[in-house]
Amino acid sequence: MSLFMTDTSPSERKNLIGLDRAELLAELIAIGEKPFRVKQLWHWIYHQGETDFAKMTTLAKPSRAALTERFVISRPTVSTELTSEDNSRKWLLKFDDANEVECVFIPEEDSGALCISSQVGCTLNCAFCHTGTQKLVRNLTAAEIIGQLMVARDSYGEWPTPAGERWLRNIVMMGMGEPMYNFDNVAKALKIIMDGDGISISKRRITLSTAGVVPMMERCGDELDVNLAVSLHACTDELRDRLVPINRKYPIKELLAACRSYPGAKNSRRITFEYAMLKGVNDSVADAKQLVRMVSGLPAKFNLIPFNPWPGTEFECSSQAVINTFSKILNDGGLSAPVRRPRGRDIMAACGQLKSASERARRQKVTA
Ligand code: SAH
Repeated sequence: MSLFMTDTSPSERKNLIGLDRAELLAELIAIGEKPFRVKQLWHWIYHQGETDFAKMTTLAKPSRAALTERFVISRPTVSTELTSEDNSRKWLLKFDDANEVECVFIPEEDSGALCISSQVGCTLNCAFCHTGTQKLVRNLTAAEIIGQLMVARDSYGEWPTPAGERWLRNIVMMGMGEPMYNFDNVAKALKIIMDGDGISISKRRITLSTAGVVPMMERCGDELDVNLAVSLHACTDELRDRLVPINRKYPIKELLAACRSYPGAKNSRRITFEYAMLKGVNDSVADAKQLVRMVSGLPAKFNLIPFNPWPGTEFECSSQAVINTFSKILNDGGLSAPVRRPRGRDIMAACGQLKSASERARRQKVTA
């Protein structure tokens, strides 16, 4: 409960999350505050994680009251929070227009990654991805993208931003949606997340995953220079056209050329190629050998993802033995190719699953 009373309802007040420093400054100046206050406010919002202006003790009381009157510092609503037996945690988050997205935290021994969504739904229609089956699509705002991380930090109690060890150390833009199709908002959000006076997650700990929107890759390198992951999934255009239809627009050759010129493509910072293991589709010895040839000369590593099945899919996951052989061929070709252990199966952690389940449940309720 805030110390300050206000006549305006929260929905009438503007959310300060997602504004960059210049925009925040403009809001402060508009209410007669001094420009230097922006640094203090930024620190409260993104370093302390404070949501109540009344508790921002470095600001004068009248300033706190003025801010309370006009603004909020709000997160998306948590519709569901689930913790898996393996300690993965997943949130289904609801925005003001009732749209929902998923966000998952996957802990590892030495590090953990928070998987953030960039869109409600997705326009790409990759054949094996569940998100593509969801109808509604809209871009998330910068506030909604950052809001996912704020919720995760609230949940793990990681405020103020820890100086040393922390759970939420890495971010992967690998949730629902294609981040390159919502690049402006993704870039704005990531710049706020990288800001050293606030959330302070470095570009080396952020990975942006794309299905291969070639014209945007250069801009991503120039503006953000975060790690790049590319959803490859096939070694011929014929197969990739079918699995990742954006390949018809930007075929493998163009995609690899864009990877080669990506600034992060150095030996110290390789490009990750994601590869979902689909039984009898893309998992042969010949496929593995072709991949080694295809990426030769490129500082690359592979991420072999056991296909995560969903109701109605035509695909199955390759057997463990096949995945191991595949991984070994890539290793022998000089490529790191760890097999992702399936995580959080008990909480439907795979892309799009929790949201679909919640929509099914709602439909059932409506028809009952
Ligand atoms: N649109 C972006 C990011 C989202 S998906 C992209 O395409 O890269 C993150 C990764 O999970 C992608 O590599 C995607 O192809 C993969 N993926 C989606 N559904 C999957 C499933 N059911 N099993 C395994 N991997 C899947």
